[in-house]
Amino acid sequence: MEAVARELRKTHPWLAAIAFGSDDDWQDCPGVSPHAATPQARRVELSWCDDSPGDGRSLEHTCMCVMTVYELMSYGGVCRIRRTTERRDVPSVSYAGWWRRLDAYMWWSRLLAGLAR
Ligand SMILES: [Zn+2]
Repeated sequence: MEAVARELRKTHPWLAAIAFGSDDDWQDCPGVSPHAATPQARRVELSWCDDSPGDGRSLEHTCMCVMTVYELMSYGGVCRIRRTTERRDVPSVSYAGWWRRLDAYMWWSRLLAGLAR
């Protein structure tokens, strides 16, 4: 069991933290996934809705160390960005966009750069 935990902490530290709890080396940020930059003043406001499009495939996600996590999701070739947050002023899960994959990656990188939110 310890070997499994050790291996998982190396490969999937955030999963290990959930499954096994933190250990001495554990820091708040696993440092594996990107963080969405602070929104810029000239950012594009995406329109978010809380209707679930059903089961999709997660292509990318931002770091889990912060309150709000973004995921780039694919729904049979159409992509949306899913936002999951612990903030109380917005719905806990909401979705933006309805893009082809190429456009979706463009918006994803804008979101990471703080140019869309
Ligand atoms: Zn982080």
